[in-house]
Amino acid sequence: MSLDSITNELTEQKSIIVAVVGAGISKASGMPTFRGEDGMWNQYHAQDLATPYAFNNNPNLVWEWYRARMRILLEAQPNPAHHALTMLEKEGILLGVITQNVDGLQEIAKTKNIVEVHGRIRYARCQDCDFIQRWDNKDFAKEKRKLPKCPRCEDSLLRPDVVWFGEPLNQIKWQKAVEWVNQANILLIIGTSGVVHPVASLPWAAKKNGAKLVEFNIEETPLTSLSDYSLFGPCEQILPEFSETLIKKYAERYK
Ligand SMILES: [Zn+2]
Repeated sequence: MSLDSITNELTEQKSIIVAVVGAGISKASGMPTFRGEDGMWNQYHAQDLATPYAFNNNPNLVWEWYRARMRILLEAQPNPAHHALTMLEKEGILLGVITQNVDGLQEIAKTKNIVEVHGRIRYARCQDCDFIQRWDNKDFAKEKRKLPKCPRCEDSLLRPDVVWFGEPLNQIKWQKAVEWVNQANILLIIGTSGVVHPVASLPWAAKKNGAKLVEFNIEETPLTSLSDYSLFGPCEQILPEFSETLIKKYAERYK
């Protein structure tokens, strides 16, 4: 089905659109592979370091690893796919973006309504109070052997504000994601194969509510057969094309 016919059908009525986003959207953002940076990290797996156990056991090691990741992430910029979602939001067509990515690129692309279900690597939070601090700057990323502490609670360590292996999702964020999906008439599923739970349940929930599913991916995924429409290609190409066409047709019909 052509982009033209898809966007014609999707604009037959005024809709509320929600996007569920995965790693595929950030592929074009120029993140060099992590293993290239420093041989020292080759011996570790994320499953060994991104856990509450690892942090309690050796917070220095875990922070050094996150600092190494941040030094790489600081070179990455949002790509046209991130900006396409911001554009849809500005037009009032998109209710919000539910992202599984912790890279923060959707926020840098100035999307306002984002739920980062797996957390945000660019922020640190206190283990004991709700203090939150941005730490995605060069100085912080370079500091060696210095454990960040909470300015409010004496001696409490800050930790990366991400969901670690073995931890539950933040329930407030998750509830918001579910509420958005329940309101959606159209769910965009972007750069994710939808196999990681509980996010994988969102397309099924939307479908059950009668929403149309539109998939954007480089190749077929387990969600392709569930989707009403699938657009295959690099996210940074197909998503801007889709958004521009949709916005144009919306404007023709409803403005
Ligand atoms: Zn604190």
